[in-house]
Amino acid sequence: MNSAPQTTTRIYLDHAASSWPKPPEVVEAMHFAMTTLGGNPGRGVYDLAMHSARAVFDARNDCARLLGMGASENLIFVPSCTFGCNLMLLGLLGPGDRVVVGSMEHNAIARPLNALAESGVEVVVVPADDTGFVDPDDVEAAIRVAPTRAVICQHANNITGTIQAIADLADIAHENGARLLVDGAQGAGHLRLDLGMLGADAYATSGHKGLLGPQGIGLLYLSPEIDPRPLIEGGSGSGDSQSARMPLDRPDRYEAGTINTPGIVGLGAAARWHLEYGATQHARESRLIRMLHDGLAELDGIMVLGPPAQVERVPVLAFSHDRVDADVLSFELDRRFGIATRAGLHCSPWSHETVGTLQHGAVRMGVGFGNTDAQIIEAVEAVASITA
Ligand code: PMP
Repeated sequence: MNSAPQTTTRIYLDHAASSWPKPPEVVEAMHFAMTTLGGNPGRGVYDLAMHSARAVFDARNDCARLLGMGASENLIFVPSCTFGCNLMLLGLLGPGDRVVVGSMEHNAIARPLNALAESGVEVVVVPADDTGFVDPDDVEAAIRVAPTRAVICQHANNITGTIQAIADLADIAHENGARLLVDGAQGAGHLRLDLGMLGADAYATSGHKGLLGPQGIGLLYLSPEIDPRPLIEGGSGSGDSQSARMPLDRPDRYEAGTINTPGIVGLGAAARWHLEYGATQHARESRLIRMLHDGLAELDGIMVLGPPAQVERVPVLAFSHDRVDADVLSFELDRRFGIATRAGLHCSPWSHETVGTLQHGAVRMGVGFGNTDAQIIEAVEAVASITA
């Protein structure tokens, strides 16, 4: 067995990449799945396989309840938010389509869109302002120029924490005959979600970030009105092996191959954790990120990116210093203080270009489960000491 690494990380502020640690309930549920749920869900009617299928069914229902959805069959388990983004884009769009997209997108959206652009999809990028906010009026102006198949926008940004006006974008898209496709990687778990009300036609998210589930599992909500092409085909567990193509019914249509039962069961436990403690956790994260923002903003030479402190953001922010390089700062935070942060472009050159940090990047801090007031104070003091 691997021994635990002798880590020097004392303060974990990389929750926007992956939250850690996880609530004990998540770990216990995964342990239960690994030790008790041996059968392959949907692949047999013997007792053990039925238990696995039941656990997956319950997890799907609990995730759907957390996301404010009706029928849980419209919630697809995917390996990652990236996979979900690819499915909604590549499955729906094709040559001749026109799409309007905000300029703060992560590579999970930008790269498949770039690939689609090479095959004849017209991609119109609407610039966000310097806080990272995409003005719905600008989207409306862009959409009115020509018939548009989809508006694409993230719910919240992974660098600036900026929250987009998704409900307004949904109205604009629908009034103009377009679909709204949302990358919710930084939204779910941090923002109270009611997908029934929000109006997105597709919403992809990660399980391992704000939702506090394990890595290797994500969620994709698809409204009943859209029918993207499945990206992969194979065994589907729906007992229709004779059919030449994937079944039409959900979720099986989009879940080819043996699914990640331990990951799904862990995510289900995370959803139940949020249903019970989510409001408290949200209040705590909001307070900590505000504290971090205020502390950093007071330091000489620091520029905090994104919205001002009084505007709500998800619990992530990034900053640069006018003299100390972001890579050096992040490295020193780790080496001298055991504080885990992330420097660079955070898989989102579009965002950095929008907010003017493409050349040098920025240091990102994401707060979450397990962080304390004392840790935030210590992180601010550490930045002050390195940049003094
Ligand atoms: N979109 C955004 C905004 C993200 O922050 C991330 C993760 N960094 C992703 C998409 C991709 O998520 P995953 O790595 O879980 O596929």
